[in-house]
Amino acid sequence: MFHEPHTIEEARSFRYRKWAGSPSGTAYNERHCAASVADGGRSVLSHQCSNRNGYGPAGLYCKTHAKMVKPTPEAKEEKCSD
Ligand SMILES: [Zn+2]
Repeated sequence: MFHEPHTIEEARSFRYRKWAGSPSGTAYNERHCAASVADGGRSVLSHQCSNRNGYGPAGLYCKTHAKMVKPTPEAKEEKCSD
């Protein structure tokens, strides 16, 4: 599973590649897809997807990752509040 922000605020507060040796991690780049992608190889870390965003919740994802993200939780809450 990858990191799935549904709002721009969530995406901005997330830090990629955060670990003991890099506690502040890497900030979200607003021009890129918000999904985190495994570094691969022996690394257990993941980095921000380098594709352009514009798809999925709040337009935060690239075409590929938009298909993997669940629908926004807010949509459900609106129905339940009635
Ligand atoms: Zn992506």
